[in-house]
Amino acid sequence: MTANNTDLPIVQCIARARIPTTQGPDIFLHLYANNRDNKEHLAIVFGEDIRSRSLFKRRPGETQNDRMIRGAYVGKLHPGRTIADTDGKLGLTLHFDDKTGELLYESKTTWDPENATLVRIHSECYTGENAWSARCDCGEQFDRAGKLIACEHEKETGIKGGNGHGVIVYLRQEGRGIGLGEKLKAYNLQDLGADTVQANVMLNHPVDARDFSIGKAIIMDLGISNVRLLTNNPDKIAQVEYEPRIRCVERVPMVPIHWTNENEGIKSKEIEGYLRTKIERMGHLLQEPIKLHTTTE
Ligand SMILES: [Zn+2]
Repeated sequence: MTANNTDLPIVQCIARARIPTTQGPDIFLHLYANNRDNKEHLAIVFGEDIRSRSLFKRRPGETQNDRMIRGAYVGKLHPGRTIADTDGKLGLTLHFDDKTGELLYESKTTWDPENATLVRIHSECYTGENAWSARCDCGEQFDRAGKLIACEHEKETGIKGGNGHGVIVYLRQEGRGIGLGEKLKAYNLQDLGADTVQANVMLNHPVDARDFSIGKAIIMDLGISNVRLLTNNPDKIAQVEYEPRIRCVERVPMVPIHWTNENEGIKSKEIEGYLRTKIERMGHLLQEPIKLHTTTE
């Protein structure tokens, strides 16, 4: 754990594992502990060479096997491999500071901290990601962030992708931070006619109770300092910037899939109302084509 004098939480990556995906590229799932809450925040990392400094730092008394099991290895694991710090097949070796045990940056093995890197800070949304809710676009945004990071260019929008490098930080703050129970009450208030902002206010919650400080600490731990932030929310840029350690060098808009392709993405009366609320009440900068579907079916 790196000691620093900042106001950010201290994060520690506990484990990292390669996840073969149904979508194509492997991803590396990182699980984090921190000194501010007891939740298991995550980072979904595209690119084997984006390395968590806290995970890779050498620990007293540990073996190479310990390092492989927690995911602090270079290259690719295979049956019979015994050394975490060297992948003989790929010709890659990590080096460490003898005194502190910190991973030393080398361009051959580790992503350059100066590279402009696609980052999405995503807050957990059980309803949108697992219960097929058409009341928000979180599930779609999550998918789209992954696709953008994986691709070279997104063909519908022409946006430059991450070409296999990038990070989705996944924070466990359901319902803009109010928790799932309160969010379900907000759903009922929406059925009673409130919009998403009014519903939170009626339940005596702030419109947005999310906190991105753990997300910032995770981005720094992953050795990323120049961020291409995937968001429509202008406030998020200021919330994520942390000069001089994190600079947002670009804002990459999340255009709803349905806006660029009538036949794909979420299409529902509810989602249009939700997006309209985000634009009109929360100042989101949704770019083109701006035309919102206002017809009721
Ligand atoms: Zn959602």
